[in-house]
Amino acid sequence: MKYSKILIIDGYNDEPGGLGVPPYIDIYPRYIAGAIWSVDKSIKIRYVAVDEFRYKQWIGKANNYDVAIFIAGVVVPGKYIGGKPVTGEELKLWAKMLGRPFKVLVGPAARWGMGIEGGRKAYSRATFKKAGFDVLVTGDPEIYFHDLIKYGENYASPYGIRNDYSNVNSFVKIGSRIIRQHPNYGRNLIVEIETYRGCSRWVSGGCSYCVEPLKGKPIERDIKGIVEEVLSLYKHGARAFRLGRQADFLVYGSEGLGVEEWPKPNPDRIEKLLYGIRAHAINLKVLHIDNVNPGTIARYPKEAREALKKIVRYHTPGDVAAFGIESLDPKVIKINNLKVGLEDALRAVEIVNEVGRKIGYNGMPELLPGINFMLGLPGETKETNAYNINFLKELLHRKLLVRRINIRKLLVIENTRVSGMKHKIGKKERMASKKFINFVRKEFEPKMLSMVVPRGTIIKDLWVEECKLGFCYARQVGSYPLIVLIRGEFPRLSYISAIKVKRVHSSRSVEGIPIE
Ligand code: SF4
Repeated sequence: MKYSKILIIDGYNDEPGGLGVPPYIDIYPRYIAGAIWSVDKSIKIRYVAVDEFRYKQWIGKANNYDVAIFIAGVVVPGKYIGGKPVTGEELKLWAKMLGRPFKVLVGPAARWGMGIEGGRKAYSRATFKKAGFDVLVTGDPEIYFHDLIKYGENYASPYGIRNDYSNVNSFVKIGSRIIRQHPNYGRNLIVEIETYRGCSRWVSGGCSYCVEPLKGKPIERDIKGIVEEVLSLYKHGARAFRLGRQADFLVYGSEGLGVEEWPKPNPDRIEKLLYGIRAHAINLKVLHIDNVNPGTIARYPKEAREALKKIVRYHTPGDVAAFGIESLDPKVIKINNLKVGLEDALRAVEIVNEVGRKIGYNGMPELLPGINFMLGLPGETKETNAYNINFLKELLHRKLLVRRINIRKLLVIENTRVSGMKHKIGKKERMASKKFINFVRKEFEPKMLSMVVPRGTIIKDLWVEECKLGFCYARQVGSYPLIVLIRGEFPRLSYISAIKVKRVHSSRSVEGIPIE
């Protein structure tokens, strides 16, 4: 069949290594559009974000398309102010209502289903199949859509996995213009960039709950491929980028990646990559990173410090190195093969502080760690939370800054090691977890926020993302930006050049007053 009109409905994804909730656009729409146009550039592709699809009665219009591609799957659920991800119910309903188009589901929802918590799956893959999706792509979507357009439905495999980035590198240059259809385009749009896939710790099985080791030996993009993608996006108007799709940015370019469990950072390659981006996207506004393994910093302090300095030299301020610490209970660390114990975690936070805590031109520290905790891991007892609280108290005591604390509950994903382990969490552990969350939200975070952005701090370049009940929420563009609450009404997605911090408003936000 000849396809001439294709609709991409972006239901948003949030994965450990990749974010697609506005203002972010992740790799899926860009890789898919590039793969389709690489075969037939006359095909009309319409990209629509799920918020518009939901509220503007898109169902009728969607029936005029030949193919409807749904991107979906929030693996690490958070609270979002930039958009509301598609729900399992909506996916089921829309798959039933759409009669004409060939319906394809991609992203984590197609791979693992949706709403997985404590081993219970609310929407399995079979549910989506039954609701009317013709294909669920569990492999790499760009491979499927390339073959669908070139060879037809019967010859395209939804299971194909890329072995290298050669096709991606050419597809992205063709597909980058799809960003022009994003609702945040021209305002606070930020593009998620992939540098490699997999995790070096796959050799030891990696962390028990993580899907990255299942991808096998890491494969890496070359500097040229990444820089050319950024240039192409830049030419199409992108001004904010996050190098967010990788397990540990510090080991990008390391000779040991794919060979050793703990590769040594290669600051020169990191510098070449960042320099290449800055040299081609001359007037970019934001260049941030995401995941960094604190274990890498603790094992290679000298090389990691050098690499962090290169990041601070070429990035933009307000950057966050997200540390997946998960737990500081030695028993939990051992059972789940986590990355760092207490001393190494403190050392890693200290080193990022040394290099990155000075204030940048937009009012935020250059680069701070963000800390991720995970509750419900095998081995957890009511004592676990005491270890985690001690660590946080030690940070306050040493006046070490962290940008934010993320507390997630264990999500058991098929085929991860944790899915075969005993992990029953009892009442006592649940109570202790609540105590921990209370400590973080009520005691730790307000104190930390007042150290990171003390009263009177001027924060620049914010975008209003949501308004209700006489207040608006504004944020800078970037990795885990701080929420600033502003009294009054502002049009959504309007720009505020600067605010002065009045007070810490909640554990995660400050109140600010706009200034000229
Ligand atoms: S270090 Fe652990 S959590 Fe991070 S990507 Fe590797 S396996 Fe996953």
